[in-house]
Amino acid sequence: QTRSSADLIRAEEPVLAHNYHPLPVVVSHAEGAWVEDVEGRRYLDMLAGYSALNFGHRHPALIEAAHAQLDRLTLTSRAFHNDRLAEFAERLAALTGQEMVLPMNTGAEAVESGIKVARKWAYEVKGVPADRATIVVAADNFHGRTTTIVSFSTDETARQGFGPFTPGFRVVPYNDLPALEAAIDETTAAVLLEPIQGEAGVLIPDQGYLAGVRELTSRKGCLFIADEIQSGLGRTGRTLAVEHESVVPDVLLLGKALGGGIVPVSAVVGSREVLGVLRPGEHGSTFGGNPLAAAVGTAVVELLETGEFQRRAGELGVVLRGGLSALLGKGVVGFRARGLWAGVDIDPAVGTGREISERLMREGVLVKDTHGSTIRLAPPLTITPEELTGALSTLEKVLG
Ligand code: PLP
Repeated sequence: QTRSSADLIRAEEPVLAHNYHPLPVVVSHAEGAWVEDVEGRRYLDMLAGYSALNFGHRHPALIEAAHAQLDRLTLTSRAFHNDRLAEFAERLAALTGQEMVLPMNTGAEAVESGIKVARKWAYEVKGVPADRATIVVAADNFHGRTTTIVSFSTDETARQGFGPFTPGFRVVPYNDLPALEAAIDETTAAVLLEPIQGEAGVLIPDQGYLAGVRELTSRKGCLFIADEIQSGLGRTGRTLAVEHESVVPDVLLLGKALGGGIVPVSAVVGSREVLGVLRPGEHGSTFGGNPLAAAVGTAVVELLETGEFQRRAGELGVVLRGGLSALLGKGVVGFRARGLWAGVDIDPAVGTGREISERLMREGVLVKDTHGSTIRLAPPLTITPEELTGALSTLEKVLG
């Protein structure tokens, strides 16, 4: 006998750590842009696993790649080679215009690995004195939840109770080139930034900022690490968000959609000068680069090589932007959007982000609030124009 949603939510309470506050929906099936709960109610997924589901739920090509690999080989560890990893690395490097790949699993691991590699590069290539390397980051960043990463978060909820913290980070305001320039000195290994700050509410820097960061880091002799874990892989209408300013960072951090919503797959992708600093034994991961991850990751890269998803994100982004513009003053006080990605600020008189998310859920549309009054829209890039327009009409209805 299947258990009801209410029963399953109640059952979680005593046995699951309370580090999340999910919407009260219990999903049991999904396909494309749609999910179904245990009672058979259908919802349009306008969050897409925080962009881990850029290709929708259970994209046929990705499911096929996963099934085929499950029937052959799933894990070797990097103690041995596997026959899937070379192609994954070759094609991912080619897709992103980089030279080398360090495969990991989760986003936070890619960030941690990027930090380690940048520090090592600073000591071995740049010549920073031992243990003096610094990394400059932006206020309101979100790069994950490990101890080192929360060390440079500016969100007190993410830090409170988790000290002592890792030293070696400098925080500057986002979208502020003079502040960034002032923070860089001879100890700076890297500048680590999200090209668009996702968790902060889809904050898009001014045109010219990313190109400015590239110019500044090149001139000052430090690395530019772009965390494209949420912004990358088609979301903004380009393969990478930095492409909107024709910028090529030294290091890219990728995750989320790289695993096709099937397995956790992340990667540090960068130049040979940077990733080449790692030697055997200095870094690793039991699951990083496993053949199942490599097979799914390769299938993801193959989808992106067609350019179809980037184009869809760009085209549907026009629909999204138009729909949100029409809601300005009608419960929406502001929004920021690029491609199929938007942060929508809700008029507090109409409700909190959480309340609007719950109202949308009851109307069959799933989103998630962030920072109290903002909701984030990031549907699968496979969503149809009709589905997107329908979601925007539902938003209009719940705001009215
Ligand atoms: N970096 C960015 C920009 C993210 O948005 C996230 C997750 O939201 C992460 C890193 C962390 O990824 P994960 O949750 O897979 O550790």
